[in-house]
Amino acid sequence: MKLAARAGRIVPSPTLSIAATAKAMAAQGIDVVDFAAGEPDFDTPDPVKAAAEAAIRAGFTKYTASSGIDELKQAIAKKLEADHGLRYEKSQILVSCGAKHTLYNIAEALFEAGDEILIPAPFWVSYQDQVLLNDATPVLVQTHEADGYAITPGMLTACITPRTKAIIINSPCNPTGATYDRASLEGIAQIALAHDLTIISDEIYEKIIYDGVRHVSIASLGPEVATRTILVNGVSKAYAMTGWRIGYAAGPKDVITAMANIQSQSTSNPTSISQKAAVAALNGGDAFPKQMVQEFDRRRRVIVERLNKISGVSCRMPTGAFYAFPNISGLFGRKHAAGTIASASDLTAYLLQEAKVAVVPGEPFGSASHIRLSYATSLDAITRGLDRIDAAIQKLTAA
Ligand code: PMP
Ligand code: GLU
Repeated sequence: MKLAARAGRIVPSPTLSIAATAKAMAAQGIDVVDFAAGEPDFDTPDPVKAAAEAAIRAGFTKYTASSGIDELKQAIAKKLEADHGLRYEKSQILVSCGAKHTLYNIAEALFEAGDEILIPAPFWVSYQDQVLLNDATPVLVQTHEADGYAITPGMLTACITPRTKAIIINSPCNPTGATYDRASLEGIAQIALAHDLTIISDEIYEKIIYDGVRHVSIASLGPEVATRTILVNGVSKAYAMTGWRIGYAAGPKDVITAMANIQSQSTSNPTSISQKAAVAALNGGDAFPKQMVQEFDRRRRVIVERLNKISGVSCRMPTGAFYAFPNISGLFGRKHAAGTIASASDLTAYLLQEAKVAVVPGEPFGSASHIRLSYATSLDAITRGLDRIDAAIQKLTAA
């Protein structure tokens, strides 16, 4: 069958496919240590489950308003005001089937052929492909590990052309774990104002943040920034609700209306039951994410320390999200029975084969020198996995 050209421009989500491979290996009885899955290993909080059960029993199982129920929009508006001092009307909020769907709605509503979309690299795997699916051109803005992956106004200016339409920012960042402070957000906002760019701010890891770092939402920098920003968030990561599929956007009414129209013609409403669950999650506040973050923090320190002890590997301490993103280029040229390590993908394949450890290679995130390990897994798995990685790397022969 002749497929549409757009289908040929993209690959399946690499994070999802590697996580699926690890799960399939485990189902076959293989003792695999899985650092691939990008989701909290905690269970969804009980009050959230109770709200979903109550919704089912009350027969709240029909279509809802396509853009989401008022009660959830109110909970989102309340959260955004409490956390960032941002005020949104219900008409400025759209609830979708996960933040990935929110981002996709944005891409459909805004991007078209000829548009250039700035994406700081390393970046989350789906940004680039969502731009391509909507006929626009991703323009990667290379950030540097040595500077903590900071984006400077100079880096952005160098990539801007008359066709530049938007920038996608992600703080805390998947995969680097970097967080943007107020000064760097101000720099990005100034460039956006000067060049009339839309800012798409993916804040899904907002609550997963360490070392006393405070999350700043770029929309809170002032009304003229807010009117060009679409804030993206959801309940997947903060409330361990990846399977419930609830994300949301808050932004200018015209964009939100266009996105809502697209949603009404594509998916209709996000699941009614999940919407009720999300209300309970958001109204439950920060107690649950804070408890989860304390545990992630312990794991973060262990995994980074263990990685840095391996010869040829160096890992920055992330300040947000739940990923370690070690630089493994020190291993390039080392050999094993079946070949030579020349890239992150080579190392990923070797670790899966030799050590039965699943990690995600850096290439789909825009770096062939790094691998990504999610530490949203038990300390025991982290210790076992790192023992295996260490042993497998020691088996490599010198370059
Ligand atoms: N943005 C980033 C940076 C992510 O890592 C994820 C994880 N899937 C998403 C968006 C999408 O999250 P959701 O599960 O809400 O679709
Ligand atoms: N965001 C997670 C990750 O990066 C989940 C998988 C996905 O949606 O890509 O692993």
